[in-house]
Amino acid sequence: IARTHGGGGCEMYQHGTAAKTLERILLENELRKSVHLGHLHLDYQPKVNLKTGKLIGVEALVRWNHPDLGRIPPDKFIPVAEETKIIIPLGEWVLREACGQAKKWQDNGYGPFRVAINMSAVQLEEPTILHTIKTILEETGVTTDLIEIELTESAFANREDMQGRIREIRALGITVSIDDFGTGYSTFSYIKELPADTIKIDMSFVRDIHLNEDSQAIVKAIVTLADTVGLNVIAEGVEYEEQAVILMNLGCREGQGYYYSKPTSPDACEQFMGKRLKTNKYSDTC
Ligand code: C2E
Ligand code: MG
Ligand code: MG
Ligand code: MG
Repeated sequence: IARTHGGGGCEMYQHGTAAKTLERILLENELRKSVHLGHLHLDYQPKVNLKTGKLIGVEALVRWNHPDLGRIPPDKFIPVAEETKIIIPLGEWVLREACGQAKKWQDNGYGPFRVAINMSAVQLEEPTILHTIKTILEETGVTTDLIEIELTESAFANREDMQGRIREIRALGITVSIDDFGTGYSTFSYIKELPADTIKIDMSFVRDIHLNEDSQAIVKAIVTLADTVGLNVIAEGVEYEEQAVILMNLGCREGQGYYYSKPTSPDACEQFMGKRLKTNKYSDTC
């Protein structure tokens, strides 16, 4: 199979690309159907205070369990959803579902804690996003002090319209965090211009933090930076006690990861609420 490019040149597909394209088309069609039929659900992962182990919030993570294809991870279908704009209805569903769940937890006496919702830059680019958010807040009756939105650095790209939109979201009382921090293109000097409340340190720096001094130095620099510009900081992907201890010693007070809990159903999450998750044996000294 060959395809002509804009320049008039002709390029052979590499072996396997046609199959990949087919898989993508299949995924696209199935995803469109699943969003339409409501065949997605959300899991929630606790965010904790590293010292006390107390739950401080949860992150909503979308799940797609296809009847024939099985579980498809978000890293596989979110990019397809972004390219095809399916992320618009999908993201709207996620917002509505997570806001509804936040309201339910509030009504049932849990919390207060924020429910964080991942938002794609593609969603943020939609001029109607503010209207969508406001409508969903009204429909679900949730107050904005219970909602957080996670955006990756690309959403903060140096574009006035995008940053203006993020400011409007924050003006509603919703907090905004920068997801996967350290993997994008923000320079350190640029960070103070960003309309955000929290930096989420990417798990690639946490994974080997107990083994690698460079990762420790990077995390230290991020924490110092966050303190300097008055941003809150949380570490993602904490899997071991050792990592939690080092993070605390580096001045990071919040974390999230398998060590505390994997993402789970809302019901399973409730058993953590109002309880401490894991603390570690050094927590009194930190
Ligand atoms: P993310 O927002 O950075 O979410 C963190 C990911 O790390 C989640 O993967 C979570 O399950 C995983 N994780 C949490 N703790 C640990 C740990 O200790 N170790 C390891 N190895 N992994 C951990 P998940 O659920 O597969 O989501 C992957 C990505 O897909 C998310 O990264 C986010 O970018 C995207 N995503 C998920 N749900 C949504 C959504 O509703 N909307 C949008 N736009 N994107 C979403
Ligand atoms: Mg996230
Ligand atoms: Mg992340
Ligand atoms: Mg990510």
